[in-house]
Amino acid sequence: MQLPREVVVGNGTLGRVVEVTQRLGLSGSALIVAGPKSCEVAGERVHNLLEKSGMSVDTVLVKTVTSQDILAVEERIKEWKPRVVIGVGGGTKIDAAKLSASRQNTPFISVPTTLSHDGIASPLASVKGLDKPYSVMAQAPMAIIADTDVIATAPWRSVISGCGDAIAKFTAVKDWQLAHRERDEYYGEYAASLALMSAKLVIQNAKLIQPGNDEGLRVLLEALISCGVAMSIAGSSRPCSGSEHLFSHALDMVKCPHAMHGEQCGVGSILSAYLHRVNWKRIRDSLKQVGAPTTAAELGVGDDDLVRALEMAATVRPERYTIFHKLNLSREACEEAAKITGVIS
Ligand SMILES: [Zn+2]
Repeated sequence: MQLPREVVVGNGTLGRVVEVTQRLGLSGSALIVAGPKSCEVAGERVHNLLEKSGMSVDTVLVKTVTSQDILAVEERIKEWKPRVVIGVGGGTKIDAAKLSASRQNTPFISVPTTLSHDGIASPLASVKGLDKPYSVMAQAPMAIIADTDVIATAPWRSVISGCGDAIAKFTAVKDWQLAHRERDEYYGEYAASLALMSAKLVIQNAKLIQPGNDEGLRVLLEALISCGVAMSIAGSSRPCSGSEHLFSHALDMVKCPHAMHGEQCGVGSILSAYLHRVNWKRIRDSLKQVGAPTTAAELGVGDDDLVRALEMAATVRPERYTIFHKLNLSREACEEAAKITGVIS
């Protein structure tokens, strides 16, 4: 089990990057992996702070995050052999840093600039162009430095997506319990409780999650970090990724361009809660409260495409048993579930 050793959260925590790297024994050299935007809002500052402390620092800018981009970052790590790789950015840039560092056996520090999904603290990474459309095992970050001053400047839609990804844990845990009951799959009570608690805390504090409210951002940030820790404890994405995530992956395959990951998982969670025969209205209402999409139209997806994604979701990952696998839904049953829940009209 790999867990983060330092989690530094709050206003102005970016300034503590030198202290954290020194405490972890990672002084010497650092490779920063960032996107053009995240470099501007945080990467340059991290670069300058580390350089001033006497470290050799280099920054690699990644625009897209495909398997090719990962190979390019890996090449840079091989050539230069930094003591630590620091990922600065939203979900995809963090994933690029995490996966390339893991493949090159180099410690990794996560510096999120947005809260769009739970990858900021998880040991998994999702990259386009790999043979799998879902996340693969990489490594947990040694440290997470999340500066709420920086995160507050990100587009609000990324926060909404993060809320959707957190709320979706309700059905992810339901699917895990189902697989444990019916397929004798390993089930970790502690990891499941941690994921579930994160979803509950986001729902309970939905009123605080508003632009300009630091406390709300902090609730979401801690929830997403806890989800990452839940995955580290479980040793897989199981506590945080069930049928609603399969639906989101299927939607990515059916329809491009698509909505944000957490927005799609939120809608998937409404559908999957309905199929689990649990309180799907509560999930829908919580998503509405944080301003997240609850319909195909709000996701920018046609009704037909949505039904097609729901129908094919179980095939995305046959080995991950969920309510979709149990029910083996026909096209008509998918359409009915989407209509009853108001996801399609
Ligand atoms: Zn997710």
